[in-house]
Amino acid sequence: MVTMSQTIDIDAGLIEKYIMELAKFGEHSGTGVWRTVYSPEWVAATQQYARWCEDAGLTVHHDTVGNVWGRLKGREPGPSIVSGSHIDTQRPGGRYDGTLGALAGLIAIRALKTQFGIPRRTLEAVALCEEEGSRFPSAGWWGSRGITGRIAPGDSDKLVSLDGTETMTDAMRAVGLDPDDVAAARRNDIDSFVELHIEQGPILEQVDLPVAIVSGITGIRHYDVELIGQQNHAGGFPMDMRRDPMAGFAEIANSLVDTAHRWGRPAVTTVGRVEVEPNSVAVVPKRVRFTVDARHPVQESYERLMASHERLMREVAARRNLEISWKVMIDQPACPSDPGLYAVAQEAARDQGVPFMTMASGAGHDSQQMAAIAKVVMIFVRSKDGRSHTPEEFSSIKDIVAGIRVLAATLHKLAY
Ligand SMILES: [Zn+2]
Repeated sequence: MVTMSQTIDIDAGLIEKYIMELAKFGEHSGTGVWRTVYSPEWVAATQQYARWCEDAGLTVHHDTVGNVWGRLKGREPGPSIVSGSHIDTQRPGGRYDGTLGALAGLIAIRALKTQFGIPRRTLEAVALCEEEGSRFPSAGWWGSRGITGRIAPGDSDKLVSLDGTETMTDAMRAVGLDPDDVAAARRNDIDSFVELHIEQGPILEQVDLPVAIVSGITGIRHYDVELIGQQNHAGGFPMDMRRDPMAGFAEIANSLVDTAHRWGRPAVTTVGRVEVEPNSVAVVPKRVRFTVDARHPVQESYERLMASHERLMREVAARRNLEISWKVMIDQPACPSDPGLYAVAQEAARDQGVPFMTMASGAGHDSQQMAAIAKVVMIFVRSKDGRSHTPEEFSSIKDIVAGIRVLAATLHKLAY
């Protein structure tokens, strides 16, 4: 008799072996991995993933955008319960970002099949082809966008590689994929998507916990702001007569960051880029252009934070007699986890005796795309020193096993 709280056995040796073997495809600078979408090392990694799916007794399918699926057909018809993440990396990234989630889905389903047999509902593991935008900067979420039908005909012609030498169309054709067929990757039979991912931040380490259940993915807005004053001599023009956009910029940057500090977690605000014109020592500048990246995972708070930032920018500009204008470059709404799945994942962690906390994701993930067609929730595994998007990225096998047990127990509750 299987009880709901039965411990699920995850093979620590197997997951470690899979992580290390997959890291060889695109191995870079010691512990790094450089594996961009549709590259030879990407092809090799997807083929290896497919072989491991077959080893686990799953039916393998490569879809028309390059995602690899491993399917364990359930006894009953109906939409699938899916787990996975992306298999591409930064240039270079580490061994864990994305890859761990693709492997975790496979390992969890393999463990469930071994321990509990054929599920009631169909389970699928997936290695998504692209998330990072590391070969084609505007491609982001190419794999999950293929699944959700968010790639329009002709999109692949418009995506140009970082080095400007090729289009997504060229890259797809080079690995035998036909860009005219991407619509066939669309799925409308996925009930739930559960994504395990490394945290990519320092919070779990700070509170000394292995795992987090994710309440939602943050909303992100990017502003491109221009502040215009009057260019004048740095000696001849008295302070009280200046229209100095650098002084306005300094006040705005400081105040926006202060606002996020006052709000506290999980609000964040970053001024990451600034350009000054003419950028000279003895000249009051004419123009300062800068970016603002502001995020909050609760939509209502997200909107209030943005409104506060905009009010402040207008107020400072007016008081200092500067012209201000901005463009919103990215406006990605917050993506809350499905409340039902969020509860199931927490119950799964408690059943497995895995200590956890809840947190929002400050980074974007495939789950926010999958949320267009399925219920979603994410599970985070502690990152050493909070590091990610670097070869130094590391999560311990002990924490990884804890995370996969929570994942497997969640899938068990949903599919058995
Ligand atoms: Zn990732």
